[in-house]
Amino acid sequence: MAYVWEPRWEPYTVEVDGIKIRTCRDKTTGMIACPICIHAASKCLDLSKEPRDYNYENSFFFSPTDLIIHIREYHFRGKNAKILREKLAETAKRRH
Ligand SMILES: [Zn+2]
Repeated sequence: MAYVWEPRWEPYTVEVDGIKIRTCRDKTTGMIACPICIHAASKCLDLSKEPRDYNYENSFFFSPTDLIIHIREYHFRGKNAKILREKLAETAKRRH
């Protein structure tokens, strides 16, 4: 039997230890998505259009702490950290 999970995203703000992250949460399951992995900016935050070539990944979490750990361990390490720093710099530039 095949089961396909169709998430219904809503904007959600995660707050852990003073760190605030805007991302998407599934209305049905309450699963919190990693904003970088699913490109939350276009998925539910209406901040940008869906990018044409984006390396989407499925990373969902039940607790805000797990999300923070994922971002710290996965996105701020090695080559991912370099890509993320470039993206953040790009976003900061666009804001001004
Ligand atoms: Zn992620």
